[in-house]
Amino acid sequence: METTKKHNFGAGPCILPTSVMQQAATAVINWNDSGLSILEVSHRSPEFESVILKTQLLVRELLKVPDDYSVLFLQGGASTQFSMVPLNFLTKKGAYLDTGYFARKAIKEAAYYGHVEISASSGDREYNYIPDCDLSKCDADYIHCTSNNTIEGTEIFSFPRSGVPLICDMSSDIFSRVINVRDFDLIYAGAQKNMGPAGMTLVIVKNGLLDKINKPLPSMSDYRIFKDNQSMFNTPPVFSIYVAMLNMLWLKDNGGVEAIEQLNIRKAARLYAEIDRNPLFAGLAGLAHRSRMNVTFRAVEPAHERTFLDFALGRGIVGIKGYRTVGGFRASLYNALPLESVEVLVKAMQDFEELMKSNMKVSDTELTY
Ligand SMILES: *Cc1c(COP(=O)(O)O)cnc(C)c1O
Repeated sequence: METTKKHNFGAGPCILPTSVMQQAATAVINWNDSGLSILEVSHRSPEFESVILKTQLLVRELLKVPDDYSVLFLQGGASTQFSMVPLNFLTKKGAYLDTGYFARKAIKEAAYYGHVEISASSGDREYNYIPDCDLSKCDADYIHCTSNNTIEGTEIFSFPRSGVPLICDMSSDIFSRVINVRDFDLIYAGAQKNMGPAGMTLVIVKNGLLDKINKPLPSMSDYRIFKDNQSMFNTPPVFSIYVAMLNMLWLKDNGGVEAIEQLNIRKAARLYAEIDRNPLFAGLAGLAHRSRMNVTFRAVEPAHERTFLDFALGRGIVGIKGYRTVGGFRASLYNALPLESVEVLVKAMQDFEELMKSNMKVSDTELTY
């Protein structure tokens, strides 16, 4: 079977391991030799029920989820969580860390349901850092943070501590590093950054938090309904869950989150080192808050931007154009991206530097004539 030939640095939907794609492709045609496609089997069949159970167990195993937390599979992407969180938990006010584009979207949705307090913001410097904040006096219903700011390329390495429930959007760095689930009361993540194809949203929630809900809610927006129905209140996103399961098996076979974290550290360090060394490029995020998943940088000479994108494309490098509001470049280094692809990008940056040097020499010579 022909496999992927490009170096895919896209921010999402993201690259997945080739072996996962191949298994998924086979399952679309003939799932487990059943003579049926995974796309046409009943979600109530024992075969699929074992998939959803296995996926849940893999999440628990890979992230060491404590027993008093529920693992749920929802739909509507992380964006639906922006409103579902306040709908379930906001009575007095929600405290939000304003650290970027997606944090702002969460804030906007929460404001439809009640009072929102911005505990800290890095909006003063284009969200290129993670602001300090003292939450010891926080009296909100919950604190909401975004562990990795996918667009700006910053990541939280030290989470706020307080007596208030902590809710975290981990869409773009879940499974990329070791976390202590106990530090959070609710974690959510859209599948398509580091888990699988778009469609499923993972929610890990402390049961005690759900016990605090004391109002009737529309079923599809009620975490308790998904918990009580083992994520099968309605038709779940079967294919997205299935591929996420394959991807989690791949992760487990490759040493789990602990091992992938070490590889992710190496990948990011390699690329940031080149950004810092190469006079043609400059990093966008504050050094202490540089994301390991989404590396944002720019061309020092804006005219080089287009040229470098084309140059990189010539080497099979795709998906490095920065988000439209930020510009520059963004190389996403999700779990399935091999170190080899980072080496190809680094080499392209080095060769581009040489090329620009020799171009300059040519024009210098022209000038002396
Ligand atoms: C992509 C992303 C979202 C939005 O996810 P959808 O599943 O498309 O709704 C939210 N938060 C973060 C941090 C993201 O990276």
